[in-house]
Amino acid sequence: MSFDLVIHDGLLVTSSDTFKADLGINAGKIAAIGHKLSGKKTIDASGLYVLPGAVDPHVHLEMPVGKTRSSDDWFTGTLAAAYGGTTTVIDFVEALPQQSLVEALIDRKSLAENRAVIDYAFHMTLADAKEYTLEEIPAVINAGVTSFKTYTTYEGFRLSDSEFLRILKAVSTYNGLVIVHAENDSIIKHFTQELIDSGNMAPRFHPLSRPAIAEGEAIGRILSLAEAVDAPIYIVHISSAIGAKELANAQIQRKNVLGETCVQYLLLTEAEYQQPGFEAAKYVCQPPLRKSGDCAALWKALGDGSILTIGTDHCPFNFVGQKDLGSERFTDIPGGLPGIESRLSLVYSSGVAKGLISLNQWVSLCCTNPAVIFGLHPQKGSLLPGADADIVIFDPTLKKTISHNMLHENVDYTPYEGYELQGYPVKTLLRGEVIINNGKAIDIKGKGKYLKCGPPQVNLQPLP
Ligand SMILES: [Zn+2]
Repeated sequence: MSFDLVIHDGLLVTSSDTFKADLGINAGKIAAIGHKLSGKKTIDASGLYVLPGAVDPHVHLEMPVGKTRSSDDWFTGTLAAAYGGTTTVIDFVEALPQQSLVEALIDRKSLAENRAVIDYAFHMTLADAKEYTLEEIPAVINAGVTSFKTYTTYEGFRLSDSEFLRILKAVSTYNGLVIVHAENDSIIKHFTQELIDSGNMAPRFHPLSRPAIAEGEAIGRILSLAEAVDAPIYIVHISSAIGAKELANAQIQRKNVLGETCVQYLLLTEAEYQQPGFEAAKYVCQPPLRKSGDCAALWKALGDGSILTIGTDHCPFNFVGQKDLGSERFTDIPGGLPGIESRLSLVYSSGVAKGLISLNQWVSLCCTNPAVIFGLHPQKGSLLPGADADIVIFDPTLKKTISHNMLHENVDYTPYEGYELQGYPVKTLLRGEVIINNGKAIDIKGKGKYLKCGPPQVNLQPLP
């Protein structure tokens, strides 16, 4: 038989295996893996890696933050993602006060529809534990959102311990997963006030307002709360050695304790905040960048399998016109960094090429685990027959230097300016169609589809 498309002679890389084979695609799905497959169309991938399309579990596209919103919209942000080999993003729904969660999901979906270039799913933010909020959880899960975002900090979002317990219990009753931004609110308020009282309001003081211990304490406490009601938990954007240690300690006792880190916490450090003038504002994010020892601890946690996903927390704001809302005071700087486009290549270059993680771990961390944990596997994040033919063809020999000019993110800087890349995607396929070909996008606006997430899979085993 002849397939719609055959990718010939690539080195297939999955979360568990690496082998040379042809990959046959029919009707947008992976149809066969074998040798000497014949196709109506063919792609020669000899010398190249063929891996599942990357899944970014943590992005914020056109997200309202205070007086502004993140600068990438559903078209520009997903297009940039596609250039970098990401074929699925998981974004967030935040209901307005008094708005129903399902209604908020419908609104958020309508922003993405007809604009997203790649497929998308959502996490639902829970900002309270009121009876009517928790009662909506089954309807939200039914609508395809099975993970629930919570915060230990931020006015309007911060939950008390008892609210956490109620949410953890309710969400786990329906087989959903609570995910949490963990930083101790009182510690942050204490240091922020001290800095403001002493007139230290430049962006370089931002990291002092949110020390690593604030993250360590909050992660430890949340893990205890989850244990108390025997609920699974996923900690987002772990930034510190102490945070990673709290997670690993809990994992000795329990399986369903999961953690994510982000590219910026692996590669960038607080030294960036010493840049002159207002430049430090480019690196203001919550949690802040840490020390190089923290980066090393996070790489180690990826290597030993205690942290299972790498997201971007892509939340871009222009340096001119948005970050400068905080020119008088660092607390007014919209927090967030761009990074949706270069994740796969940065992690390969800084992780695989430097021997910190294996080739298969790279695929697990960036492609497979996010899909598995959030109930999108095997449709996404795999090369199994029957899966969506979302595929990245990656040239491990291609060298590039990151510059703002080469990226497609709708923002006026990149925090990775000058980073040397070893390896870059040369083709991105979404459901069997080439959408990016050697740096050129192919007529793709609105091709992305909404994905309903299934039950989260929380008992992942660390890879060897
Ligand atoms: Zn985030």
